[in-house]
Amino acid sequence: MLETRVSDESAKSAAVQPSVTDAVRTIAASELAPLVRKIDAEGFYPEAVMRAFGRAGAFAQHLPGSSDKLDLGVAIEAMAAAGERCLSTSFCMWCQDALAWYIFASSNNDLKTTLGRKVAAGEALGGTALSNPMKTFFGIEPIRLKGKRVDGGYVVQGALPYVSNLGDDHYFGAIFEVEEAPRRFVMAIVPCASEGLRLGANTKFVALDGTRTFAVQMRDVMIPNALVLADPVDDYIKRIRAGFVLLQSGMAIGLIRDCISMMQQLKGPLGHVNKYLDIQPEALAEQLDAITSTVARLAATPFESDPAYWRAVIEARLAAGEATVASAHAAMLHCGARGYVSGAAAQRRLREAYFVAIVTPATKQLRKMLADMAH
Ligand SMILES: Cc1cc2nc3c(=O)[nH]c(=O)nc-3n(C[C@H](O)[C@H](O)[C@H](O)COP(=O)(O)OP(=O)(O)OC[C@H]3O[C@@H](n4cnc5c(N)ncnc54)[C@H](O)[C@@H]3O)c2cc1C
Repeated sequence: MLETRVSDESAKSAAVQPSVTDAVRTIAASELAPLVRKIDAEGFYPEAVMRAFGRAGAFAQHLPGSSDKLDLGVAIEAMAAAGERCLSTSFCMWCQDALAWYIFASSNNDLKTTLGRKVAAGEALGGTALSNPMKTFFGIEPIRLKGKRVDGGYVVQGALPYVSNLGDDHYFGAIFEVEEAPRRFVMAIVPCASEGLRLGANTKFVALDGTRTFAVQMRDVMIPNALVLADPVDDYIKRIRAGFVLLQSGMAIGLIRDCISMMQQLKGPLGHVNKYLDIQPEALAEQLDAITSTVARLAATPFESDPAYWRAVIEARLAAGEATVASAHAAMLHCGARGYVSGAAAQRRLREAYFVAIVTPATKQLRKMLADMAH
């Protein structure tokens, strides 16, 4: 009898437990929505919101080893729920998710139980400095960080122009080249508090300014062996690359949803003239459905090693970036002058949208990668 009552109770509480995405949506509505203009206009970094998302489990849904079935879908949906309101915050979530992804996809088990747990819970915050090496690996630019083997670890130096979601007590994943034999690339976690590391004055961007994006300068920064994720990185990069790229879809999905919603809201007052515009919300909604279901399918097997899978990931990312820019452009045309005033959502979403198409891997890089695959 007691057993029945207990299981009834737990069934009831499971039924009322909100999903992680619902919890993120609720926090976004109550805590993020009032900050969105401040984030955009003043570059305000929504740290309290990030920590609240962490407590709600937003950064712990995509981690290898945390459940039998690895699926990036919930992490992507959580990022989309925030992205419906603010791309800066959605991008900070991606940075945080990527940092946790790197740690839990590595074989550094000590780091998983220490820093990894804190990152997954949003107690420690941070990001990823992989744009430069991701461009190096695909033949676009030289590597900017160099490391030397020393007793107990590596000493690293170099500079990176942009790394986001940082602060004095934050962390980021980075890759450096070791030139002595065997010449190789090594990936490690770098604490911003390391001696010799300086966060440079942040550039003023046209959007995404609330992401705490800094230039990072490293002068003989000691990286202890305990913070190394992969040495050499070759197989590890193949393991993490699809997750790195697919997780970015959350930003695109959230922003496109908001643009469709803006266009639909204008049907009443402006439908009689907006119907002459080339791009209508129904067509974008269909495109979004296709993107969302492709991403969901790919996100269910992020460690798949088939080259056709990697190609499909790149194609999905390219489609997501292009649809984001197209949606924000269409929303701007549908909103007209009311979207063109400072403080209007449409002009902010348009400025934000370009980020999805220029953050690494940018549209041009994705097109290069597809072209290179054809040879
Ligand atoms: C708001 C913001 C946040 C970012 N956050 C991160 C992050 O967290 N981690 C990360 O690794 N990368 C980050 N990046 C970098 C981003 O992912 C791209 O790599 C970057 O935008 C350059 O990509 P690209 O395809 O335009 O490079 P390309 O067009 O190939 O440009 C080549 C290089 O030019 C350099 N460059 C950059 N700005 C200028 C400039 N103003 N004048 C001249 N040269 C310049 C850069 O070093 C760039 O790599 C961020 C960029 C922005 C705008």
